[in-house]
Amino acid sequence: MKCIVCGKEGKYKICGECLIERKKVASIERFTLELCGKCNSIKIGRDWLKIGLDEAIKRLICEKLQVEPEFELHEIVISDKFAILKGILNGDFVEFSVPFSYGVHKISCPKCSMESGGYYEAIVQLRAGRRLLRNEEIEKAKEIVNKSILEQNGQKDFISKFEVLKNGIDFYLGSRKLGEKVSRRIAEELGGKIFESRKLHTRVDGRDAYRFTFLIRLPEYEDLDIVVKNDTLHVVKNARMGKGIELATGKYANILNAKVAVKKDSFGWGIITNLDESSAEVMTEKGVVLVQRPFGAEIGKEVFIFEYKNKIYVFPRDL
Ligand SMILES: [Zn+2]
Ligand SMILES: [Zn+2]
Repeated sequence: MKCIVCGKEGKYKICGECLIERKKVASIERFTLELCGKCNSIKIGRDWLKIGLDEAIKRLICEKLQVEPEFELHEIVISDKFAILKGILNGDFVEFSVPFSYGVHKISCPKCSMESGGYYEAIVQLRAGRRLLRNEEIEKAKEIVNKSILEQNGQKDFISKFEVLKNGIDFYLGSRKLGEKVSRRIAEELGGKIFESRKLHTRVDGRDAYRFTFLIRLPEYEDLDIVVKNDTLHVVKNARMGKGIELATGKYANILNAKVAVKKDSFGWGIITNLDESSAEVMTEKGVVLVQRPFGAEIGKEVFIFEYKNKIYVFPRDL
């Protein structure tokens, strides 16, 4: 068969090269690009994506592109105002440009609207037993929150409020899942227990919607503090894991829920100058004292000294 226009031999009445001159085989409907003015994410279909403008335009063009059935599209190249289409038409390879235009609509994406509207599903509260939080603990918790938000990166994974209170700190988080993750990580990193509670907040589509509170209570004791458990004294070796050493025997013990007897800040310091089977003589800043022989005692060893229930105790610094 010969092309009716140019006479070229082929399978069609008109060859692709001639047809493309005469017929519009593709068009791109004008579209609107919805851009979040706050986080720069762009709406593609139902999703808001953090992608570049070029990529977004390309995807939106692909959505809006309409081609005649006889054209087999192989490739699209986007330039400023045209999309260059390459493919097969009536047996010929053809390449042609299709103009496109779009408007930009700046709005706030759902995530940014919720965030700025103060939306939250979970409160993570960090407290310590009978002491204030240390700065390192606060910084660590903040770091965990920021890291978890980046990792989860869901529609509701944001922080809408951070509060410093007299006795601790509160994080208001957009999703329950984020609250769960953050509290579990904080408890893992800093020690402590999580207490979870929930409150009916509202009803959404006939379903109860709750707000969740994750209270993390860090232990009162810190490393090197003296705690009392079952009437025996222990030095805290790992506050996070709840591990201590029994002073009298040097045995490792679980000290979860133990009470603080003496804080490390009030320790004195001395050197063992003499020893017998049951007692030790220790030179201190305030003179020589005679105490019960501690586990790990050696002459010349440096010790910490503290008083508990009117009795003086010492233990080696390197216990
Ligand atoms: Zn032709
Ligand atoms: Zn946004």
